Amino acid sequence: MSTAHESTDVITPEALQALPQPLETKGDWDHVFSYHPMDRVLERAEGIYLYDDQGQRYIDASGGPFVMNLPHNHPRMKAAITDQLERFAYPHPTMANPERARYGKMLAEILPGTLNTSYLVSGGSEAVETAFKLARQAQIARGFPDKFKIISHRDSYHGMTLAALAASHNPVSQRHFVPMIQQWPNVRQYSDFDRPDGVSREDWGVQCAQALEEVIHYQGPRSVAAFIATRHGSGPDYATVPPVSYWKTIRDICDRYNVLLIADEVVTGFGRTGRWFGMEHFDVEPDIMTLGKGISSGYIPFAAVAITDALKATFTDTNTGFVHGFTMGGHGLACAAGKEVIRIIQDENLLENCRTQSERLFSYRDQLMAHPTVADVRGWGLYMVAEVVRDKNTMEFFEPDQNAERLFQGIALKNGLALYGTLYGPRRQAAFRRGIPIWISPPLTITTEQVDDLMARLLDTFSEWEQKVLS
Ligand code: PMP
Repeated sequence: MSTAHESTDVITPEALQALPQPLETKGDWDHVFSYHPMDRVLERAEGIYLYDDQGQRYIDASGGPFVMNLPHNHPRMKAAITDQLERFAYPHPTMANPERARYGKMLAEILPGTLNTSYLVSGGSEAVETAFKLARQAQIARGFPDKFKIISHRDSYHGMTLAALAASHNPVSQRHFVPMIQQWPNVRQYSDFDRPDGVSREDWGVQCAQALEEVIHYQGPRSVAAFIATRHGSGPDYATVPPVSYWKTIRDICDRYNVLLIADEVVTGFGRTGRWFGMEHFDVEPDIMTLGKGISSGYIPFAAVAITDALKATFTDTNTGFVHGFTMGGHGLACAAGKEVIRIIQDENLLENCRTQSERLFSYRDQLMAHPTVADVRGWGLYMVAEVVRDKNTMEFFEPDQNAERLFQGIALKNGLALYGTLYGPRRQAAFRRGIPIWISPPLTITTEQVDDLMARLLDTFSEWEQKVLS
């Protein structure tokens, strides 16, 4: 296909030198702890584009870390936040904050089933912590004080606070903190990579879900409070969407053993999958849902935890107060941003645009798979993962000293693409015999022409990179 921009055919050593490099922490940057960007300085952002201080334009191909469901610099978002700022920013805790109530009502209208009540916090990890404490307190209130364990998927991601880290079961991010975190049980994820020949996805979904029952059995159902998982896979199976049978079986098992089901929708919420929430694709209602990222589309720190009417009744019927609270929860500006996000998604038909552009995005699957380093392309809505390996047959990634990810990132930036997957690279360890995810998750306003432009640049980036790393 023709590309809308110029690219070099062969990467010469000089051209390599000219590629963006990791930021050197000198001068003012020396005072910023643990910061891993490349040496491009962000000046402003507009729509799906980021602009550096040299006037270069980059497509925000991953919407930051899948946070920008709306475009950058949306006039209505700026107006909503500044209007609220004119009245008050921080709501005094002893006075009723009407913004919290208005936001809660709007959120209940778009949340599925009976998830009608929400608790507001400031970030995804806080939402996950809040969900765990809600589950534990609800089990005590229901008369099951021995239930405290949270089961989750092995090699998943639920955040970086200690309990979220414990539930993520990722050996790389846990490694220094093992003595400080709970050793909760974990369970396998749904994967198509180990699905036996001749077994359908639906049947395999049931079998993978049954692993939860086994873990509950051996842990002792009396001790298990909740199970948390994302709607699509994480870690090596990032963005693998399980069949409906998986979530239906998980729901049945949770019901059978009085285990609360927590749906982590921090990534999949607010239209990213083409519906308001990922769980809607499976027609399964969780007891608790965690929300973040797209909830405010990155305009302000915001997150929430939604609970069902039945779970709420557990607290109200027993007159149990929820022992919890964060200074910034329910912030006036966050509620204003959250309300406007919902209105814009509705007014601009962004769920529909997400579904339309998703088809366009995934129409590039074969072209991506034609690349020798792309082992798989999967996902849903405007959320696509290309699993990148050194060798499709052995499913192994490059040796660390090849700097393969850094090189990919540099070439992508040169080609006008800002990608989160590669930005994550320096801290990430390749999964054993599995690849590294390259995430494509642009704002939901993206047009067909912009999808084509993005994909042309991505395909070029693969070609240039492979010439270098496979030679
Ligand atoms: N849950 C999931 C599924 C996530 O992907 C993330 C962040 N990537 C979190 C929770 C934590 O969110 P935050 O980084 O806002 O704390």
